[in-house]
Amino acid sequence: MDVNSANIEEIVKQVLSSMQGVSAPATATAAKPVGAVPKTARVAMLTALEKFELKEYPIPALGDDDILVKVEGCGVCGTDAHEFKRDPFSLIPVALGHEGTGEIVAMGKNVKKDSAGKDLHIGDKVVTCMIFKDNPDITMYDLNKQNVGGADVYGLIPDDDIHHNGWFADYIFVRKGSTIFNVSDLDLDSRILIEPCAVLIHAVERAKTTGILRFNSRVVVQGCGPIGLICIAVLRTMGIENIVAVDGDANRLAFAKEMGAENSVNFKDFKGIEALTEGVKNAFGGYLADFAFQCTGSPVGHANIYKFIRSGGGLCELGFFINGGDASINPHFDICAKEITTVGSWVYTLRDYATTFDFLKRAKAIGLPMEKLITHRFPLEQINEALQTNLSMQGLKIAVINK
Ligand SMILES: [Zn+2]
Repeated sequence: MDVNSANIEEIVKQVLSSMQGVSAPATATAAKPVGAVPKTARVAMLTALEKFELKEYPIPALGDDDILVKVEGCGVCGTDAHEFKRDPFSLIPVALGHEGTGEIVAMGKNVKKDSAGKDLHIGDKVVTCMIFKDNPDITMYDLNKQNVGGADVYGLIPDDDIHHNGWFADYIFVRKGSTIFNVSDLDLDSRILIEPCAVLIHAVERAKTTGILRFNSRVVVQGCGPIGLICIAVLRTMGIENIVAVDGDANRLAFAKEMGAENSVNFKDFKGIEALTEGVKNAFGGYLADFAFQCTGSPVGHANIYKFIRSGGGLCELGFFINGGDASINPHFDICAKEITTVGSWVYTLRDYATTFDFLKRAKAIGLPMEKLITHRFPLEQINEALQTNLSMQGLKIAVINK
């Protein structure tokens, strides 16, 4: 190549001018293209029982503390199904979907960090947790004991002027006072599973307060829906391996073994609680359980589980998200004489949420097939079918996935 001094001068000029261009703010923004923010976006609005309608609303102007997230996917929760079928919380019309995740496409100038202190940028993958609109200064470290029961959650707040309030949508408008986490290091399936997994992280934390759950404990997990299956996975990541799963569905029990249960008991194979208790005992090689997790919403399930626990053992009851009626137990035999320590568990705290991110990485690292929990995927246009699939008890976790 024949390069004379005039050419060199020209090249240097070009290089310098292009460097100035890169350092200029306007060009810097252009260098990292931001997904265009549309003027309007769709929201799946539950407008009547068993009826979602896709409604198009303007996206409001972002305030200095607000964040606009483009939704990638959202799990269907039992709570969504109850609301869809019966509206027990009188929320209709409501934008549902609280197990969602997506990508930040725009944010106000005051937004710098997430609720755990991690930096937030355009393009980061995020999940939201609670909304503390009256107390926006709360951080996850203040909240060891306060669980989500006392706060608002996106996907379960009444419709208002913003409308983009649930994750069954194209975009969600995350307003000031919300807790948000940067989870860019988790894949989409893991991010969709964060919310239900946090329920189990919390339950196991509650169980640990009894002092009974230990490294080599024998643990019964009764109920092998998503909650019971994730319970098994959480126990496995803690190094607890002696787990017996109890359910009435052979497929779910087979999956429980894939998730790490050592043994399984199908209650349909046994007639009466005494025979079933023997079945559980045999599954542990002749011992009762040190600890039990009750993950069904069945009063009979609650009554039965005491029989599976040894004297001095412990129980965590977490199956009754809704009122399933009274359970009949014998306090003399079931609690006093055996000195059973019982804890209840209800949703999760912000700190449990952060622990869940680590759990999901660990579960993957030890080869637990977490992604198999998502058995059905629907586009937003088929939101009604997604909810009906959940109601018909098909599969495990149903998810709405946006293109
Ligand atoms: Zn949920």
